[in-house]
Amino acid sequence: MSAPPPAWAALDPRHLWHPYARARGDAPAAPVVGGEGARLRLADGRELIDGMASWWCAVHGYRPPKLVAALHAQIDALPHVMFGGLTHEPAARLAARLAELAGGGLERVFFCDSGSVAVEVALKIALQRAQACGHPERGRFLALRGGYHGDTFAAMSVSDPDNSLHARFRALLPQQRFTPRPPAIGCGRRELREACARFDADLDAHRAELAGAILEPVLQGAGGFHVYEPAFLAHAAAACAARGVPLIADEIATGFGRTGALFACRHADVAPDLMCVGKALTGGVLSLAAVLARGEVGEVADRIGPLPHGPTFMANPAACRVALASLELLQERDWRADARRIEAGLRRALEPLAAHPDVAAVRALGAFAVVEAKAPVSAADWQAHAALRGVWLRPFSRYVYTMPPYIVSDAELRQVTDAIRSGVEAGLAGGAPAAASRI
Ligand code: PMP
Repeated sequence: MSAPPPAWAALDPRHLWHPYARARGDAPAAPVVGGEGARLRLADGRELIDGMASWWCAVHGYRPPKLVAALHAQIDALPHVMFGGLTHEPAARLAARLAELAGGGLERVFFCDSGSVAVEVALKIALQRAQACGHPERGRFLALRGGYHGDTFAAMSVSDPDNSLHARFRALLPQQRFTPRPPAIGCGRRELREACARFDADLDAHRAELAGAILEPVLQGAGGFHVYEPAFLAHAAAACAARGVPLIADEIATGFGRTGALFACRHADVAPDLMCVGKALTGGVLSLAAVLARGEVGEVADRIGPLPHGPTFMANPAACRVALASLELLQERDWRADARRIEAGLRRALEPLAAHPDVAAVRALGAFAVVEAKAPVSAADWQAHAALRGVWLRPFSRYVYTMPPYIVSDAELRQVTDAIRSGVEAGLAGGAPAAASRI
C-alpha cells in the first residue's frame, strides 16, 4: 500500500527546478529515497526497475558495495582538495588507468565535473592547438547533424543546430559548421559512399576555418538516438587525420561498454585525438568527467602557454577513487556478455514493435534501445504507465528509450520491455499528450 508523500516532498515544487523543466507547473517529481541493484525505492515504498540507469551512468546499479566502500574510504582520507599545485593518488591512478583502457596514445587527462564541461575543455584544447600551429583563424568546429554534446554554450553550439532544446539560444551561440547525419547502421554501399563523399566535401569546404571535428561515435544520443554505420566513423576519422583536423570523440554516453564495445570508437577501430568521457565513469555515484588527449595534442597546445581552464572541483578525490573502483568492477564483471545479453533481450522484445502504426522505428545497440514514435509522446503518461508495472522510464520528444544497468536480470529486463510494449499497445506512442499524470 502506498504511504503518503514525505513532508519534504512539498518543498520540491515550491523551490526546485528539474532538468529541462519549467520553474513551476510541470508534473510533480517522484520522491525517491533509496536504490539497490537495478531498483529505485520510492518514498511510498514502491520499487521501480531503473530502465534509464540514471541517464546512462548507473551501470552497476545502485549502491554497489565495492563503490560504496571506495567512497567511504576516500571520504575518511580526503574528500576534496584543490588540484592547482597539489595532486593525489586517486587522480594519478585513474588517469593512468583511463589512458591504458583508451589506448591510441590518449595519455593526457583533464578531469572536470560534467560531460558538458568536458566538451568545453576538449574544444578549448583543440582551439589552443590550432593557435599554437599558427592558425588563430581556425576557430570553428565541424559537427554532425543530430548530435548532442551538452547544455553549456560551446557544447550547445556543436549540437544539432535545429534541436529544440538549444534553438532558443541561437543568437548567443558560436556558429559552427555542420555535415549531414550519417547513414544508419547496415546502410547500403552506395549510401555509405555518398555520405563519405559529402563528409569529405564539407571537411574540405571548411578546412581553413576548422580547429577540429566533433562527433558521438556510432550512437548519437539525445539528438535523436540514431545508430549510424561504423564504416562512416572509420572514414570520417581517416578523412580528418589526412587533413590534420583533430577529431574529438564524445564518448560521454557511449563509454564504458554501453554500446557493446568498451568505447564506441572501437566499433570502427578509430583512435580519436581527443576523447570526452563522463556519466558511467563513476558508475553513477558521483559527478566526474574527463578529456583524454593524445600526448602530441597537449604538447602542441603547450607551445603557447597553459590551458586556461581549472574547475574548483577538478579531479575530486572521492569521485576519482570511486571511478577507479567502478573501472575495476567493470573488468571483474563480464560487461561484454551483459551488453550482449541485454541487446538480445531488447531486440527480441522491442523489434516487433516496429510494425506498430504509431512507431517510426526501433533501434538497439548493446545495452541500449529506443522505440521512436511518429509523434511526440507524453513523458508523464509513460512514466505513470511504466511505474504501474514496476519500471522507471523517462521518454522525451518521440523517443521511448532504455539503457538499464548492466546488472539488470533477465526477468527485470523483461519487465522493462513489457512496460514499453504494453505502453505502445495502449496507444501511448500515438501522440496527443494527455494531461500530466502522477506516478
Ligand atoms: N555528450 C553526450 C553525448 C551526452 O549524452 C551528454 C549528456 N546527456 C553530454 C555530453 C553532457 O553531459 P552532462 O549532462 O554530464 O553535462
